[in-house]
Amino acid sequence: MKLSRVLVFAAHPDDETIGVGGTICRLHKEGATVRVIVFSAGGGGVPSGKEEIYDEESVESIRVDELDKVSKLLGFEYRVLGVKEVINRRSIIKKLVSEIRDFKPNLVFTHSPNDSHHLHRAVSECTTEACWHSMTRAYGYLGEPWRVDAVFFYEVFDLLPNPTLLVDVTSTFDMKLRAIGLYSSQIEVFPGIIGYVKALAQVRGFFIDTSYAEAFTQSSNPIIWRDRCEVYPRQEVCTYV
Ligand SMILES: [Zn+2]
Repeated sequence: MKLSRVLVFAAHPDDETIGVGGTICRLHKEGATVRVIVFSAGGGGVPSGKEEIYDEESVESIRVDELDKVSKLLGFEYRVLGVKEVINRRSIIKKLVSEIRDFKPNLVFTHSPNDSHHLHRAVSECTTEACWHSMTRAYGYLGEPWRVDAVFFYEVFDLLPNPTLLVDVTSTFDMKLRAIGLYSSQIEVFPGIIGYVKALAQVRGFFIDTSYAEAFTQSSNPIIWRDRCEVYPRQEVCTYV
């Protein structure tokens, strides 16, 4: 599988870093072009006790500024769709098909369908459906059909029970922690986030005998990806579509 173009869908700024930050940075260093598409600027992320200081619009502005700094650190380009409520309907599918056909990703990362957050679940559903629509001849006016090689779900605060891909991110984990730190507005909302991210990466790393790893699930194909920027499937990965 080529990994030259990688698309990451995130409900809010910071989801991409918590779930895929080390992998994004590693892919960038190894020559891939990574684009992150953020749905909502995250106006709900107002810390408790600060409601009178921050309204939703000012928090959105702060979070997009943070996203911009993180994008430069980890090495990705980004777009913010400005969609606060994600509902699986024609308008959002068309927007996503257009984005996929425009960027032509080989690999897509998106939220898990079993996430507790309604927006994360909605993003998961809409993006995986859009990957399917994108390869069909439907919506011909949105560009030529594009087939994504594989879609992987990432974890934020709900752990994946049976990950099928573990990526060694030891070489980029310092950058990931620095990126989490750049989302300073959200550290007030999730004060233990740095410790959580570090501990989870150590747990994931344990299973592939490395210091830090990120875990993903893609259908039922067991894959271990460790030392090189390649995917080692036991079965053909492209069975996703
Ligand atoms: Zn989120």
